[in-house]
Amino acid sequence: MSELNIGVLGIQGAYEKHALSIALAGANAEIIKYREQLDQIDGLILPGGESTTMSKMMGFRIDYKDILAFAEKKPVFGTCAGLILLGKGIDDPRIHQFELMDVSVARNAYGSQKDSFIDNLTLVFDKENPFHAVFIRAPQIENIGDDICVLATCNNTPVLIESNLYLGASFHPELTPDLRIHKYFIQKIMEVKNGKTPKSA
Ligand code: GLN
Repeated sequence: MSELNIGVLGIQGAYEKHALSIALAGANAEIIKYREQLDQIDGLILPGGESTTMSKMMGFRIDYKDILAFAEKKPVFGTCAGLILLGKGIDDPRIHQFELMDVSVARNAYGSQKDSFIDNLTLVFDKENPFHAVFIRAPQIENIGDDICVLATCNNTPVLIESNLYLGASFHPELTPDLRIHKYFIQKIMEVKNGKTPKSA
């Protein structure tokens, strides 16, 4: 696995912990702040943080079109605010979505910072042990398209989804020592690099 280079967008938010999880899961992690760095990575994580701020900061050292060009061929994993950016249909002019996943979300629908919670999820790809998922001002998934695979739910609402080259989580998998979701993303990157067609529903 060690020859895979995985980037974490380092514009704003919880990127350091994602990089640590990637390294612990056995791949090389790189914090991405400049567009030139995208040439050196096999997959990209859009971290949690604040989607309005990330939208505002995009366009300086790294632009939407750079990430969109990257995402045409290589896997992208959006977590929390990163999931908001991967989705579409948000009614807020401050947020610029990539529209890479057919998913619409309601921002902060689980409540404010003080309403943060942990839920035990069952991962469809590893049902043995629950995954302790941390939700912080999380976006709630409202609608998903037919091509979306649901990999985990919380109270019957999808919270971990996959389609084509993309993976999205409404929680923060980097805040727990459980590396299964990062390993799943690494596996996906490996498969794409080896020419396998990415999974769809
Ligand atoms: N509420 C934030 C937003 O709308 C997301 C929170 C998070 O990433 N933990 O961007």
